[in-house]
Amino acid sequence: MPIPPSSLPAALESPAAARVGAVLVIDLDALVANWRDMARRVAPAECAAVVKADGYGLGAVPVATALWQAGARSFFVADIEAGVQLRAALPDARIIVLHGAPTGTEAELARERLVPVLNTLGEMERWQAEGRRQGNPLPAFIHIDTGMNRLGMDAADFTRLEQDAPSRLDGIALQGWMSHLACADHPENPMTAEQLFRFRNILGRLPRAPASLSNSAGIFHGTDYHFDLVRPGIALYGPNPAPWLPNPMRPVIRLLGRILQVRDVPANVTVGYDATHRTQAPARIAALGLGYADGYPWAGAGKGHVMIAGHKAPIIARISMDLVTADVSAVPEALLRVGDWAEVIGPSRDVDQVAAEAGTIGYEILTRLGRRYHRIHLAQG
Ligand SMILES: *Cc1c(COP(=O)(O)O)cnc(C)c1O
Repeated sequence: MPIPPSSLPAALESPAAARVGAVLVIDLDALVANWRDMARRVAPAECAAVVKADGYGLGAVPVATALWQAGARSFFVADIEAGVQLRAALPDARIIVLHGAPTGTEAELARERLVPVLNTLGEMERWQAEGRRQGNPLPAFIHIDTGMNRLGMDAADFTRLEQDAPSRLDGIALQGWMSHLACADHPENPMTAEQLFRFRNILGRLPRAPASLSNSAGIFHGTDYHFDLVRPGIALYGPNPAPWLPNPMRPVIRLLGRILQVRDVPANVTVGYDATHRTQAPARIAALGLGYADGYPWAGAGKGHVMIAGHKAPIIARISMDLVTADVSAVPEALLRVGDWAEVIGPSRDVDQVAAEAGTIGYEILTRLGRRYHRIHLAQG
C-alpha cells in the first residue's frame, strides 16, 4: 500500500485525490527513522511503540506494520478492540493493552494473545483465574502508580501485593512492572525525579521482572529512566517529545488542503461565519477544502498560515466545518491555481505550531486527524 516518495506528485493528481478536499501524507520512512532513533538512544533497553488511538491518528495498522518490519516487537494499545485489530495484522507481535482486563474480557484477551496491563489486585485475581482455566500462566504487565493517580495500583493495593507477592503473582506470566511519568515534558518539574525514586523503591520490594517507566519525554531524562523497556508514542509521529530541546524527530505528516476557489475582495468586507474577519485593504482570499470536521481546530481561527508554492498565506476568519480561508494576497498570481494544494501541516508549519496556535497539544491535533482525508503512505520500497 505504501508508495515511494517519488510517486507522490502522481498520487496527488490521482482520481482518488481528486475526489476529496484534503490529503494526508504519512511518511512511514520518517516514522521508522524516529523509532530507530529512540531505539538507539535506549539500547540495550527494548524500545516498544505506543500505537494507541489508532496510531496517534495515523493508522495503527500501517504504523505498527512499518515498525514491525523495522524490528519493533512490542506495541501498546489502549483497549481490547484496538488490540484485536492489530493482532489480525501482526500475528507474532507482543500487543499490550493499557486499559487492562475489564471483568468478562479475560477469555478474549487470552484467545487473542493480548497482554493486559493489570491495574488492580482484582484484575490480577481474575487474570490468575483465567490462567488456571486455560491451564497455563497468562502474560501481563502490572502498573504501579507512582504519582499520576490515574491508572495503576494504588498504595493500599500495593501494600497487599508486597505482603504476599509470590502467591498473588502465582499463575501470572509477569512480563514487567510499569509506571507512568506525569510531568516528563517539563524538565524543571521535580515530580519526574520523585517518580523515579518511588519506582526504584517499589522495584526493590517486589520480585524481579523487567521494568518500564518512560514515555517519549522520559527517555530524554537519561539512562536512569530507561530500565528494560521504554514506551515512546508521540516522538515516533514527529512532534517534539522534549520541548526544551530543538525537535530531534523527523516530521511524519503533511496535510494538504485543496484550493477550491480564489476571490478578490475590496477593503472593509467580512469573511466567514460571524463576520469576524474584516479586510483592511483589497485582498485575495482562497477557500481550502478542510475544516474542523477534519480535526483542524476551530480554535485555530485567524491563527498561523498555510504554504502555497513556497509562499505564506495567513489563515483568516472562522474555521468552518469543511473549509479554511487564507489570505493569499502575497502569493504570486502565476503560482496560485485553483485545484492545487496548500500545505496546512508540514515542514513549513509543524503539528506543534498548529497546536500552540489553537491552545492545545500536538497529541490532540494528531489524534483528531480526520477520517475524510485521502491518505497516502510513503515508503522507499
Ligand atoms: C500514552 C502513553 C505512553 C506514550 O506517551 P508519549 O508521551 O506519547 O510518548 C506511554 N505510556 C503510557 C502508560 C501511556 O498512556
